[in-house]
Amino acid sequence: MNCIVCVASVPDTASVIKLKADGTGIDESGIKWIVSPYDEYALEAALQLTEAKGGEVTVVTYGPAGAEPALRDCLARGAHKAVHVLGGEKTLGDSFTIARVLAAAIKGRAHDLVLCGVKGVGTDCSQVGQMLAELLGLPHVAIVTALEVGEGSLAATREVEGGKEKVECPLPALLTCQKGLNEPRYAALKGIMAAKKKPVDKLEVSSLGIQEGADLFYAVARFELPPAKSAGTIIQGENDPAGAAAQLVKLLREEAKAI
Ligand SMILES: Cc1cc2nc3c(=O)[nH]c(=O)nc-3n(C[C@H](O)[C@H](O)[C@H](O)COP(=O)(O)OP(=O)(O)OC[C@H]3O[C@@H](n4cnc5c(N)ncnc54)[C@H](O)[C@@H]3O)c2cc1C
Repeated sequence: MNCIVCVASVPDTASVIKLKADGTGIDESGIKWIVSPYDEYALEAALQLTEAKGGEVTVVTYGPAGAEPALRDCLARGAHKAVHVLGGEKTLGDSFTIARVLAAAIKGRAHDLVLCGVKGVGTDCSQVGQMLAELLGLPHVAIVTALEVGEGSLAATREVEGGKEKVECPLPALLTCQKGLNEPRYAALKGIMAAKKKPVDKLEVSSLGIQEGADLFYAVARFELPPAKSAGTIIQGENDPAGAAAQLVKLLREEAKAI
């Protein structure tokens, strides 16, 4: 059971995001880059499958040099090897280019299962997995929350509005993994030390026959932060609760227009 896990390196969800002055991207100073949280479910599923059935887990990322810590984190948790396609600065947000690059990096590497997250946290496009499945000619199951893999086929449970759907498909296949699929493990010290010696295959995008920045389907024009929150209003009501309640209703109706 050979698994390939696509891992997006994203800003730590606890980071305070500041924008570049021209709004074309984020100010990366002081940002810690992590494995996109949904990709942790994909990695954990792949690790559990190979522990039970043998085979290897290969993690693949497409991103700048700063994406390597995310790969090392996956190796420390138990992935056997990694592929780092260097680049991505010109293609941020262009899901189709990301999918083309990943497909070219994955073709020729043994895989029974390709696993992605449901979305890359921060950009939230939810498109790469589906496009990648099409480019690799694989069946795709989206939003997977439970998985059983048998001989030559799998059964996956999907989240659907108000319930669950169980589907079956042949292997090889591509899954996009959702919270609830499993409980991702942390890297132990032994794994962190072992990860330093595990192989990372570094590739240039051009070596995959793709010219980065050409044929973009989509480009981010501008990022904007939400407006700063105004200071709250405190209504003093200890001595006159009824008056405070009336004032609260007035403010909710006339200022907040919430009722
Ligand atoms: C604020 C911010 C700044 C960023 N800056 C850069 C940057 O300068 N350069 C850069 O290259 N990237 C950058 N990233 C992009 C990041 O590395 C991911 O490629 C991106 O978040 C993927 O999310 P999506 O919404 O585009 O794709 P989605 O379609 O939502 O992703 C779904 C799944 O596809 C897979 N996937 C998506 N992208 C990749 C990828 N690049 N490699 C491997 N698997 C992937 C993952 O399994 C992911 O869970 C940035 C992301 C954010 C949030």
